[in-house]
Amino acid sequence: MSGTPEQEADRVVPLTYAVAGAQSGRNFYNYKDVTVNERTRENAFAQIVPFMWAFTVDHADCLDRAATRPVDAVCIVPSGRGREGAHPLERIARHAPPRWTRTDATRIAAPRSRFDPASIGFAQDQDLDGAHLVVIDDTWVKGASAETVGMAARRRGAAEITILAVARWLEPRFGNTREIHAAVRANGHWTRERCPVGGGDCRIAASR
Ligand SMILES: [Zn+2]
Repeated sequence: MSGTPEQEADRVVPLTYAVAGAQSGRNFYNYKDVTVNERTRENAFAQIVPFMWAFTVDHADCLDRAATRPVDAVCIVPSGRGREGAHPLERIARHAPPRWTRTDATRIAAPRSRFDPASIGFAQDQDLDGAHLVVIDDTWVKGASAETVGMAARRRGAAEITILAVARWLEPRFGNTREIHAAVRANGHWTRERCPVGGGDCRIAASR
């Protein structure tokens, strides 16, 4: 098994950015950290979940338009071992478009390499044949976890894979994210109008 994906996702859609060392970055740790107090955890969640709402209300149709077929199903990246109870990402995914059919990807074996689709399973009754599947993750660094779920879905017949990351993770001190971070700072803050699928103002695209 090589260390690279068999076929990468058709697109990665980050809804916002999270910056290491900044509040935006801390929110993505705190919302799922059972060792911080509940108020800190809930505050973090409250700052993250609106990005999912805004996508559902404003841009879910944009994704259907950009794809070769509208979205059929959605799953979340399963957590590693050792977590008790519901995955915190579940609380975010609950606000995905209701028309997306929910499916469950589960970790069925320890991954033997960075990309190991045999480590991920889907419910046997889940029909993914020819489907456009959205894989939701909270943060996207290099995408190995979400890409692995996408690869497993393709093996089950999925035709199109979109990775929807609530935030693209930026480490301003390292690598190419330094340039992205500078661009994000220069271009101002997140707005509802800026389309996470197409980049521009999609109200203009939709009215054409
Ligand atoms: Zn849009």
